[in-house]
Amino acid sequence: MRVLVTGGAGYIGAHTSRLLAQRGDFVIVIDDLVTGNRERIRGLPVIQFDIANGSASQLAELMREHRIEAVIHFAGQKQVAESVAKPAWYYEQNVGSVAQLLLAMESAGVAKLVFSSSAAVYGDASGAISESAPTTPINPYGATKLVGEQMITASSQAWPLRAASLRYFNVGGAGAPELGDTQALNLIPICFEQIAAGKPPLIFGDDYDTADGTCVRDYVHVSDVADAHLAVLDALPQAPGNTVLNIGTGVGTSVREMVDSILAVSGSDLPVEVLDRRAGDPAAVVGIVDGIHQLTGWRARYGVADIVESAWLSRQFFSAQSHEES
Ligand code: UDP
Repeated sequence: MRVLVTGGAGYIGAHTSRLLAQRGDFVIVIDDLVTGNRERIRGLPVIQFDIANGSASQLAELMREHRIEAVIHFAGQKQVAESVAKPAWYYEQNVGSVAQLLLAMESAGVAKLVFSSSAAVYGDASGAISESAPTTPINPYGATKLVGEQMITASSQAWPLRAASLRYFNVGGAGAPELGDTQALNLIPICFEQIAAGKPPLIFGDDYDTADGTCVRDYVHVSDVADAHLAVLDALPQAPGNTVLNIGTGVGTSVREMVDSILAVSGSDLPVEVLDRRAGDPAAVVGIVDGIHQLTGWRARYGVADIVESAWLSRQFFSAQSHEES
């Protein structure tokens, strides 16, 4: 297939672009290269282009020129706190880009789309969450993803678009050390940061209604997430409209279990510090992932140990690189 990957130099985008290229698909990446890094996808064609501020007609031209058959849309902003501070900018970036992309796809006759959505659309829902759970985002980031999904659904009713919106749970790890996420402000990288500074990892609240009192999340390996995109892309002919799918493992892991495994992999004997709850954290968020399994046969292959281990190797890789540079 001839696939255009937006945001293909980013964390999940690069893993997916590499897999597509490895199986012999034609891949072209467009990325504004602000947070994306060309090094991650060495050997693949990259066009530097900012979709949210670019024109749909330019984008359509590019699709025609490269005879694109499908788009995987990763480009976007993904920091919850930043979205709270700069809401209009998040809508411009995350919603504007979907609008431009859909206009371009319709004009160029590209009728397959896989969209990066997020479990953030579920807001503060707690427990095992299926795709039919209410969508009530509690921050602008989640809201922009939901609007993106809605725009895609409406487009799939207006013209022969086949799409899937993938709602990622907690993505982590690295398929290769150089593919790790150096900008994430999530539990695993924050803990590594604390440990590197000789400070105890922090647990935000241990008085939740969960087995060990700490929050439970569904951590899914980025290589599994990348793989899911290929499986869903291949299944689009059997899936009319905009198919919404959870991407997770269906297994919950507590913050305390994660922190213990992070301390173990980094060989640290630092203690753990328990702080108050962080505002807005639901107790447990675990995906029900039967939908993608039924459509494609996909299931996550990696567990939490693989996620933590590969994230650690990636961190080692980047810190060795920054030592060399300094
Ligand atoms: N968390 C924590 N300590 C940290 C960072 C995160 O206890 O240093 C907790 C956070 O409160 C949440 C879980 O780890 O319960 C996952 O947080 P993250 O920000 O990685 O992802 P979220 O599930 O909020 O999208």
